[in-house]
This record gives sequence, C-alpha cells and structure tokens, in this order.
Amino acid sequence: MHITRRKTRQIQVGKVKIGGDAPVSVQSMCSTDTRDTNATIEQIRQLEEVGCEVIRVAVPDEEAAAALPKIKAAMTVPLIADIHFDHRLALQSAKIVDCVRINPGNIGAWWKVEEVIKAVNDNGIPIRVGVNGGSLERPLLEKYGWPSPEALAESALNAVRSLEDVGFTNMKVSLKASDVHHAIDAYYLFAMQSNYPLHIGITEAGTAMTGAVKSAMGLGYLLSQGIGDTLRVSLAADPVEEVKVGYEILKSLELRHRGINVIACPTCGRVEIDVVRMANELEKKLGHIKTPLNVSVLGCVVNGIGEGKEADIGIAGGEGKGILFKKGKLVRKVPMDELMDTLIVEVEQLAKEKEAEGNGESVVSSDTNGWESLAPQSDRPSTLGKEIPVLPHR
Ligand code: SF4
Repeated sequence: MHITRRKTRQIQVGKVKIGGDAPVSVQSMCSTDTRDTNATIEQIRQLEEVGCEVIRVAVPDEEAAAALPKIKAAMTVPLIADIHFDHRLALQSAKIVDCVRINPGNIGAWWKVEEVIKAVNDNGIPIRVGVNGGSLERPLLEKYGWPSPEALAESALNAVRSLEDVGFTNMKVSLKASDVHHAIDAYYLFAMQSNYPLHIGITEAGTAMTGAVKSAMGLGYLLSQGIGDTLRVSLAADPVEEVKVGYEILKSLELRHRGINVIACPTCGRVEIDVVRMANELEKKLGHIKTPLNVSVLGCVVNGIGEGKEADIGIAGGEGKGILFKKGKLVRKVPMDELMDTLIVEVEQLAKEKEAEGNGESVVSSDTNGWESLAPQSDRPSTLGKEIPVLPHR
C-alpha cells in the first residue's frame, strides 16, 4: 500500500522535525510526578531506550516548572512541557523546553496567550495547540450541543487563526477525543482546512490492550489516509508500552521500519516449541535493537521454514532439535535448550552487520503530493470560510 501523506508545514521540536517530509515521530508522556526528578529521569531513560523521540511532562505547578532544568539536562530527546490554566508556567517552561503544549481554550484572557507567544518566540520554540473534547469553549458547546468533531475542528481552527492573526505560525495541532470515530472525524475536518502538522492520538484510549486496539484503529485509519505527523498512543499503562504500540502501528503501515518485527505463528497441534513464551521473550530481550529485522518464531518445521521465508532470521521447532534459518534457508540444527540463546546471539550479530552496512533504521518514503486538502498551500493556511466540508469517508 502506498500512502500519500498530507502536505504539511514543517516545524522543529528540538532536533526532531515534525511535518513536511519528516518521518512520523513517536512521542510519549511521563506518568511520573514531574517534581520527583529522579523518577521522571528514570522513566525518560526507559522511554529513550525504546526509541521514544519526543517526551512530554506535565507542568501543573511552580515546583514542577522548577524541576525542568534538571530533567532537560538528563535527557537526549526533545522535551515538551504540558501546561493547562496557568500561563505563567508556560512562560517559565519556555526558557527550558523544546515545545510548550497549551490549550488556548483554558489559558484564559487573550493577553495571556500573547505573553506565551512572546516567550516561545524569544526562545525559538514551537507551540502545540492541544484541543480536547473535555475542555471545549462554552460557545462551541452551546453551538453544537456536545463536543462533536465539528466543534473540535472549529475550536482548533479558531485557535490557529487567532495565533496567525498575531503573526505566529510555529505550531502543531492536536484534536483529542476518546471515541475513535469522533477523533477520526475531527482530525479529518481539520486536515481538510489547514496544513499545520498534526499530533494525532486517541485520548484516554484505555488499558494496554483496549487502548492499543483503539489507537491502532483510529491512528491507523488516519495515517493510512495520509493524516498525522507525530503520534502518541495514550494508554493507562507504562508509557514504554505507548512507544512500542506507536512503532507497531507505523511498522504495520510500513511508514517506519524500526527494530525487531517478531513474526510468530499462531501455533496449532503440530507445535514443538513454546512459541508464545519465546516470542514475548524475544521482544523484551531485543527491544534495544534499532535496525529493522524480521525475526520468525515458528512452532514446527512442517510449514515453518516456508512460512518464515519473509523473515531475515528465525527458528522453528523440530523433533528433538530446533532449526535456525535465514531467509527461509536452513542454517543449522540447534539443541532445544539452546535455541533461544542462539537466536538472540544471531539476531544481535545480524543487526550489527546491517548497521555496519549502513542499513540502520529506515524510513519509508511517502510522497506528499496529491493529498486533496482544501487548504491553500500558502504561507497563510487555515483561511477557509466557515462552511464545514463533508467528510469523504462518511
Ligand atoms: S508453524 Fe507449525 S505449529 Fe505453527 S501454526 Fe504453522 S503448522 Fe502449526
């Protein structure tokens, strides 16, 4: 499947480019108390280890804002400060972080937003305009009766236009709803009327499993339609899982190739090895590898090697002995109790070889031409009239 990505402006969050032809980046947010710098730095370290490219922390009060310099100094990826209500926290954070997330709807008087704009401009960093179904402006709620996709899109477009009116364009936008259909429609409506880069996500998606499925449906649909420049999978779980799910979504759509892609057979009556345990263990033990590699774990040799042809390397259960294969060809037989360790060593070796050849993490190119955006491709986007376009997928 070839994905034609929506043409968006490009912004820079620290060293990470977002929008334009930049790869869709994977973000997460710390679940720790930002004031607890040790716990936050430790979680950031874990997130960086699994490839998280941008990390956001909540800044609910002065003490959290004061913790930012220490946190920022300990990390290698860009940091975003998440601010609600108190614009002074944004002013303070802007001096330290790489991007400030605000919801103009809950910052209050317009002069406060203008102060935030001045602060981010002074520090050369962008804003994420984060519109959320749970915190929509009252007039829009009255107009639409509920936080509908149209209300979310209008709220975001209003915010964008207001910021443009004071000459500010260094921003990305998110429109979060927890219902998959509503989130898709809101993003779609916005994307048809603006070419700012989009941070996509399904808010409060749920627990690890439910949230992963919901996010895969919502974000997968949007991305397959070319919408989305950076993503966060929101899970009521360890944020490390959010990053893993994010990459899996991008890998499934072939938008990013990163790390190990474990192909495990579903098992059946012929299974000779503990496929489930081995596949899980592989994902855990090889999570640090960035080089894209397809690794198969197949229960038996009957169909195993054939089914594993697409894999760079893999194992299959055999009678008494396991089989190690590369690109569908038998390499050697391995005693069952050594199978797992052998595979791990071989995968690490293969990853090193690929890296040395310059085949590290790859980004699948996707052209950005031809996306049927109604937005004028000019320096001043989001200037469509008040008429709401009809969603093409309805
Ligand atoms: S690889 Fe073997 S064990 Fe796994 S599903 Fe296929 S036939 Fe069954």
